[in-house]
Amino acid sequence: MKIFTIIGARPQIIKSGIISHAIDRVDGVEEVVVHTGQHFDDNMSDVFFRQMNIKPPKYNLGLDSLSHGAMIGRMIEQLEIKMQSEQPEVVLLIGDTNSTLAGAIAARKLDLFIAHIEAGVRSYNKLIPEEANRLISDHLSDVLFCSNRDAIDCLNKEGVYNHVYFSGDVMKDAAMYYRSMSQSPSNIVAEKGQFVLATCHRAENTNDADKLRQIFAALDEINNHVKIIMPLHPRTRNKLKEYQIKTNIDTIEPVGYLQMLWLLENSKMVITDSGGVPKEAFFFGKPCLVMRPKIEWTELVTHHCTDLIDYISTDNIVQGYKAVKDKTISKDHNFYGDGNAADFIIAKTVEYANQRLNQ
Ligand code: UDP
Repeated sequence: MKIFTIIGARPQIIKSGIISHAIDRVDGVEEVVVHTGQHFDDNMSDVFFRQMNIKPPKYNLGLDSLSHGAMIGRMIEQLEIKMQSEQPEVVLLIGDTNSTLAGAIAARKLDLFIAHIEAGVRSYNKLIPEEANRLISDHLSDVLFCSNRDAIDCLNKEGVYNHVYFSGDVMKDAAMYYRSMSQSPSNIVAEKGQFVLATCHRAENTNDADKLRQIFAALDEINNHVKIIMPLHPRTRNKLKEYQIKTNIDTIEPVGYLQMLWLLENSKMVITDSGGVPKEAFFFGKPCLVMRPKIEWTELVTHHCTDLIDYISTDNIVQGYKAVKDKTISKDHNFYGDGNAADFIIAKTVEYANQRLNQ
């Protein structure tokens, strides 16, 4: 049996490693990984294959730096060609990027069996670029794997899916598996437990000059009290330049996953607007302030593990930081499974694909 896995952006590459390892453990199943090229810099893509012992993709479509429509259109076209030549039994989709959406459309049109990992994630805000990708990819998939119970509820409410499972989160698998290999970044000067880890890259924040200015004014202010370490996403770096925003923070280039785990584990707290990083902060028991009014991982908010900023302003972020910095995060919750999500996902997917072959 052949599984055709589609990746494109940094978080998908990280998740794909743990999935590929699970596929390798099943006899008679081969994987073809296709990278659409959405993220292409060494520190946004290649470093993860090297560090995490992930087999490099068989194909890289090189589709970066295009508008959404052009990117998705070309991805559909190119993925269809690869699917036709590889003839997989299963197409595996991860998350909610443009690559996920393009893979779903290409595979559905070829009537291939589709499994979607991290299904059922909803913000109920259509202005968030990923929301359309989630809705369409879920609708086109044959089996849906949810990272949390809330996603199951969201899918049940929509009432149109037959095969929905709580698998646990492959990000938790990855954090547990790679944690013992974490490495301190070579280019930072910081004492363990004495720094704040910050990330910022979300389009809603970076594409709005005023918001980005407010965010960096707040981070600068916080940095006067406690050192902030910020691996800077290329989009944010470009926007800071475009809007001529200066900062006194120690920004560094994006780090590899093993360095990111070290920063998470040794930080005092995390400030971010990332989709995935709040979960990782929770895995490491760190207080987390999210520079968004809402997040998809609602259990983190309702159980007081993560705090949100309702309206982005310098004052709100600084006040939020003060309120959260000394918080203790309960270790009693287990929202995301036991670290074996990938094995469950692959076993179930192979079972369904076999049933389909035998029909
Ligand atoms: N990450 C990383 N290096 C960095 C910043 C993030 O390895 O410099 C990892 C992070 O630990 C998480 C993933 O990238 O596993 C999240 O990616 P990102 O925040 O870019 O995307 P989102 O989760 O918002 O889709």
